[in-house]
Amino acid sequence: MKNTMMPHHRMTRQRQVILEEIRNDKTHPTADEIYEKVRKRIPRISMGTVYRNLDMLASSGLIKRLEPGRSQMRFDGDITDHYHLTCVKCGRIEDILFESPENSIETLERALGHLTKYGVFGHRLEFFGLCSICRREEDVTGLVSLAAR
Ligand code: ZN
Ligand code: MN
Repeated sequence: MKNTMMPHHRMTRQRQVILEEIRNDKTHPTADEIYEKVRKRIPRISMGTVYRNLDMLASSGLIKRLEPGRSQMRFDGDITDHYHLTCVKCGRIEDILFESPENSIETLERALGHLTKYGVFGHRLEFFGLCSICRREEDVTGLVSLAAR
């Protein structure tokens, strides 16, 4: 059988560089931001190639695709289970870190499983808010509109 019939998910150099850049970026970058970073290492790479590789990396589970509501799609190189907080204004996404494991969502999920007698095996949870930068801007805008009265 010819090898072309079975697309081997070979890690090309381009894909390797893209993966490295995402893993080294803790800000959950957009495709454009990843493209800008990758271009510094592979100057001739095209936007289309970056998009295609992001798609492949996400489908194969090596990175996570984040689609928070109406804001732009972002990517996460950390594929372990964790929660995100999205700014509804600028779209910035931050990781949520629980201080103690007893307060974690996993504990709630387990408790819920016992309480309901359901075999609870998953959950989906997203947090939304205004980041500190956007909140400061809101305060300023608020002051301006107050002054205009
Ligand atoms: Zn913000
Ligand atoms: Mn994350």
